[in-house]
Amino acid sequence: MKKLFNMNRLKKYGKSLQFRIFIIFILVGVIPIMLIKQSILKSYEKQSITQRGTMVQNQCVNIAEQLYSTGYINGTDSEVVEMELFQLGNLYNGRIVIVDSGFQIIRDTYDIDEGRIIVSEEILKCFEGTNTMRYDKDNEFIEMTIPVEDEDGGITGVMVVSMPTTDIQDSREDLDRKVVILQIGMFIIILGGAFYASKILVKPFGKVTQSLDELTGGFLEEDISIPDYTETQLLSEAYNRMLKRMRVLEESRQEFVSNVSHELKTPITSIKVLADSLIAQEDVPVELYKEFMTDIGEEIDRENKIINDLLSLVKLDKKSADIHIEEKNINELLELLVKRIRPIAEKKEVELVLESFKPVIAQVDETKISLAFSNLIENAVKYNKEGGWVHVSLNVDHKYFYVKVEDSGIGIPEDAQEHIFERFYRVDKSHSREIGGTGLGLAITRNAVLLHRGAIKVYSKEGEGTTFTVRIPLVYTE
Ligand code: ADP
Repeated sequence: MKKLFNMNRLKKYGKSLQFRIFIIFILVGVIPIMLIKQSILKSYEKQSITQRGTMVQNQCVNIAEQLYSTGYINGTDSEVVEMELFQLGNLYNGRIVIVDSGFQIIRDTYDIDEGRIIVSEEILKCFEGTNTMRYDKDNEFIEMTIPVEDEDGGITGVMVVSMPTTDIQDSREDLDRKVVILQIGMFIIILGGAFYASKILVKPFGKVTQSLDELTGGFLEEDISIPDYTETQLLSEAYNRMLKRMRVLEESRQEFVSNVSHELKTPITSIKVLADSLIAQEDVPVELYKEFMTDIGEEIDRENKIINDLLSLVKLDKKSADIHIEEKNINELLELLVKRIRPIAEKKEVELVLESFKPVIAQVDETKISLAFSNLIENAVKYNKEGGWVHVSLNVDHKYFYVKVEDSGIGIPEDAQEHIFERFYRVDKSHSREIGGTGLGLAITRNAVLLHRGAIKVYSKEGEGTTFTVRIPLVYTE
């Protein structure tokens, strides 16, 4: 179990930004150190070899002059030359071979090949006037040829010098070891630095998480602000926007709950008052009983209506979860609604007319869209004057159908128009209550219209009348 936990932590670390920053630091730090080591060692070796070569060559040029001037090259003995050859050979532990114009070795400081004939590419080149210098890295020596020139520049012999470079190689290896130690030291420093830097760099993100966690605990209280980076700043700003929205939602939720409780309590309070007053009185006449019981019955109906409206709203709030879309004839649908509401209109002496301009078939949820339109038509009748009229019309274009509900009623004051779609909002509470309103009708209508991706608008003038226009797409889109 513990092992699994560690594996998970390791996996998490492997995926983290911190780990990536750590790796980048390491790569950026270590690769140059590796490369630098190689080039330092190479350039050290190259420089040492060149230096050694030039030094030996300069001394050889001196000796070569004496080889000619003392006549050594032509067979004359010279102690000075011998001395010089001995010194140079001793100094670098090297071998000097002098070849005359007949390619015969007239002197070998190792005393091995004297008298022998020697022909090599380098010697031939040197007789032609080209000095050669060759570094044999594997066998650790430098070999060079220097011409012995007479006063006219003619070449009368060649000096072949080979010098071991073991000391240079040794000090290169020594340097190599030192650089490796230095590298390990730097690697450890970089490792520590990278780990520390990666930790510091991602710290603000940790702060964001911590702030969010704290907020989840305390919920919605304060805004967060982590301005360390532009990214964390944007993150906190986005979070604060979400927070603001959540606060609004929370407020409206609380308001809704308190409204619901209030609305549900009102009929119950009335029922309780009516019942109590009946009980309190003695010898109550049957007529009064009947009257009170009728009132109680009405209050129960009202309670029922509020509960039904609330249920419709809750269903609509579930969004497209259980929407049943079908192709429907909207003309028939409206005719049915108007037929159902007509008796109420007639009772109020309100003329109710439906006008369909064109046949309309659209994809709708029949129950929900009927609820939306019947609320509008019922309102137009309810908030009308005696002898008034309600005009429902249906029109269509290639994309939408339009339903217009016009009335000659009491109208809606301008400042109330933006609130009428809110739950439980009524312009005149007592009037709405009197005529059986719950304040939920237009909220239901708006939700149903929005569920169909439609739009609803209101135009009204107080005392003159109201017009609601609804636009619904013919084809339903998810
Ligand atoms: P209610 O159940 O009270 O009718 P609604 O949500 O249907 O609730 O309407 C909200 C308020 O908007 C109503 O109380 C009423 O004041 C106003 N209203 C709605 N429709 C009309 C209309 N056609 N004419 C005048 N006022 C209206």
